[in-house]
Amino acid sequence: MSPELPTDLIDPFQRRINYLRLSVTDRCDFRCVYCMAEDMQFVPRSEVLSLEELYRVAEAAVGLGISKIRLTGGEPLIRRNMLSLVERLGELPGLKTLALTTNGSRLATMAQPLQRAGVSKLNISLDSLQPARFRELTRTGDLHQVLAGIDTAVASGFERIKLNAVILSGRNDDEVLDLVEFVRERGIDLAFIEEMPLGRIDEHSRPLSFCSSEQLRRRIEQRYPLTALGEPGGSAGPARYFSMPDSPSQIGFISPHSNNFCHLCNRVRLTVEGRLLLCLGNEHSTDLRELLREPATTQATLANALIAALALKPEQHHFTHSDEPDILRFMNTTGG
Ligand code: SAM
Ligand code: SF4
Repeated sequence: MSPELPTDLIDPFQRRINYLRLSVTDRCDFRCVYCMAEDMQFVPRSEVLSLEELYRVAEAAVGLGISKIRLTGGEPLIRRNMLSLVERLGELPGLKTLALTTNGSRLATMAQPLQRAGVSKLNISLDSLQPARFRELTRTGDLHQVLAGIDTAVASGFERIKLNAVILSGRNDDEVLDLVEFVRERGIDLAFIEEMPLGRIDEHSRPLSFCSSEQLRRRIEQRYPLTALGEPGGSAGPARYFSMPDSPSQIGFISPHSNNFCHLCNRVRLTVEGRLLLCLGNEHSTDLRELLREPATTQATLANALIAALALKPEQHHFTHSDEPDILRFMNTTGG
């Protein structure tokens, strides 16, 4: 890479970008009701970045000071040969944290190889502890398989495991305390995420299902006093974390509606079709796939494209409460 290139990615609002999320597939073995429509159109395979192309973007980004990469999707663990990418990323000098977000369906066999290949932080989605309800919310998921995956992950020596739960009013809001108990018993963390208006869904009304972080926090505090662990930002990302007096588990709240955290944003995303997306809640982006498929493109060309793209990063997102999605792309394409 050219020695004149800056080693820091700073956006026009003076935010330092050091975190890249890579969506490695838009496909998934689940169809969660808040994430996907029942009948999804997936990106044609020829338009999906190859593992080599994903690696090239990651390598260029790490050369510019990206110190954390999260692999997500879609369901990253259903991508064929995924471990080979994880192993290569795990060896990238300069990358301090390799993280992965999964629905847990394949963790029973993959947790250990992932940990050995360098994944240190694992997020696992879990919205219900009731098998029938879990099936209803994921449309296809098998709770027992996911729970077995979580147990294997807990025994595999990851630095941190966090569960993610999207809570919908009238659907699973009565399980908030059960989920807290579940993580306390395992000494892992839990983050509650407010549903975001990404992609058109007709399974439920997003405004009517909305549960604010504040409501959930009040409910938990009836059983466990919560002590705030500082402001969002840094390694906490957009989540606001709390501790409980008698447990190492931390409880977080990600509140894109009720608490705008854009001024702390340190991340960009690469969509499955190679679009570098500067903000989850806006469409500002740069197409890297065309560049990647151009024979003359070197790693320095890619690095320059990443630097140029940063100029497009918007100051903030504006999510509204409506049944009309604010953003038409679904979370699975974006990389949640
Ligand atoms: N398949 C993996 C999983 O479910 O963990 C990784 C991808 S998934 C898109 C990442 C996270 O996004 C999950 O925790 C999921 O609950 C969350 N998510 C999906 N759609 C969402 C939405 N509309 N609003 C808020 N969170 C959403
Ligand atoms: Fe699949 Fe994750 Fe979306 Fe659920 S949230 S449909 S598991 S990508």
